[in-house]
Amino acid sequence: MTEKEYLSIDHLVNRYVAKLGKYNAGLSIEGLKARFQVDRVAKLGSNENPFPTSSSVMKALSRAGDLSHYPDANCSLLRKKIADKLTVAEESLVFGNGSEDLISIISRAFINEGDKVMTIVPSFGLHILYPTACGAKMVIAPMTSQLEFDIERITSLLRSEKPKLFFIASPSNPVGCSLSQDDVNDILANVSEQTLLVFDEAYYEYAQGELDYPDVLALLKASGKPFVLLRTLSKAYSLAGLRIGYGVFYPVTLAEYMNKVRTPFNVNRQAQVAAIAALDDDNHLGKTIHWNHIARKKMQQDLKRLGVSPYESKGNFLFFSTSWLATDLADELLKFGVIVKPWMEPGYEYFVRVSIGKAEDNQLFITSLASLLGRTALSHVNQ
Ligand SMILES: *Cc1c(COP(=O)(O)O)cnc(C)c1O
Repeated sequence: MTEKEYLSIDHLVNRYVAKLGKYNAGLSIEGLKARFQVDRVAKLGSNENPFPTSSSVMKALSRAGDLSHYPDANCSLLRKKIADKLTVAEESLVFGNGSEDLISIISRAFINEGDKVMTIVPSFGLHILYPTACGAKMVIAPMTSQLEFDIERITSLLRSEKPKLFFIASPSNPVGCSLSQDDVNDILANVSEQTLLVFDEAYYEYAQGELDYPDVLALLKASGKPFVLLRTLSKAYSLAGLRIGYGVFYPVTLAEYMNKVRTPFNVNRQAQVAAIAALDDDNHLGKTIHWNHIARKKMQQDLKRLGVSPYESKGNFLFFSTSWLATDLADELLKFGVIVKPWMEPGYEYFVRVSIGKAEDNQLFITSLASLLGRTALSHVNQ
C-alpha cells in the first residue's frame, strides 16, 4: 500500500502530541556537504564542543569490551563518582540518555493533564515541548526587553500561578545570561510547596569560572525546597554523540519516581564508561573553558564590528539579531558551509544563536556573515 491509500490516522494520535510543532534538531555535517557541495562545514548550530572527545575517554571506550550484556541499570560506578564530586546522596542522582531524556522523564513522572508548567521565553524548546505533550498548560515568563531574566515577573507568576513545574535554564539557552545568587534566592523564597523547581545547568562548566556565577546546587540544597538540577556531559565534556546527562533530585523520593518511569537501560554501557573517564580529565575541561573564554570574546568583538550586538553570554554561544529573517540568514549561511540556529520562537524571528567553535570555523562564520550583511548594506545604498 502506498502512503496515500491509508485513511487518516489522526484520531489514533494522543491529542496533545497531534498539536505539537516539529523539533528542529539542526543539520548534520554530512547532510550539508551533500546538499551544497561545500567541502568545509562550520557546525555552529548545536553548541557542541570544538575540541574532540578527549583521548583518555577514547582509550577507556576501547577497553570497555563486550556489548552482549545489558548495561548496569543503576550506573553504579558513575553514580558513586558524581555523588562524591558534588557531595550529594547517591540515591538523589538519576541518569539519562542525555539530559533531554531527563526532561522527558520529569514531564511524564510529574505532570497531570491540565497542570500548569512555567518556563522562560526565549527558551530551550524541550522545556515546552515535553510538558505540552503531557497535556500541561504552559505559563510563560518572558525575559525583559534587554533579554535578562525578569525576576519580578518570575516571582510574581510563581506566587499567583503556583505551577506544578518551573523549568529554567541558567545560563539561559539561547541568550547566555544567568541568574545571580540573589535571583536564585528570590526565586526560592517565592516558590510554594506546590511547585517543583527544575534548574537546567547544561552550561554549568562554562559558567562556573565566570564573575558572579553562583553555586546554584549549594543554594538549592540550603533552601530545603524540592528541586531538580540537570547537568550534561554533551557540552563541555565533548560527549554529545554518546548521550549522557544526569539530574540531582531532592528529596530523593523524587528520584524514586523518576526511576519508575524511565526505561531501565536508558544509559548505555559505553556512555557510563566514557562519562567516568571524562569526569577525570581535568585537562580537557580546562582547555575547553579557556578556549571558549578567548574565542567568545573575539567573536563578540568581530560581531560588534559588523554592527551586530550579541548579548552577554556565560555559555559557549552568542545570541543576536539582524535585519534578516533568521531562517533566511541561516539558509544563506549554509551556502558558505556555516550552520547556525535560527531561533524563530514567536517574537524572535530575527534572532540567531551561534556556537563558539574552532578558530577557523568562527572565522568562516564571521566572513560569511560580513558578506551577507554587506549585501544588505549595499542594497540599502542602491535604494
Ligand atoms: C544542550 C542542552 C541540553 C541537552 O543536553 P543533552 O544532555 O545533550 O540532552 C539540555 N538543556 C539545555 C538548556 C541545553 O542547551
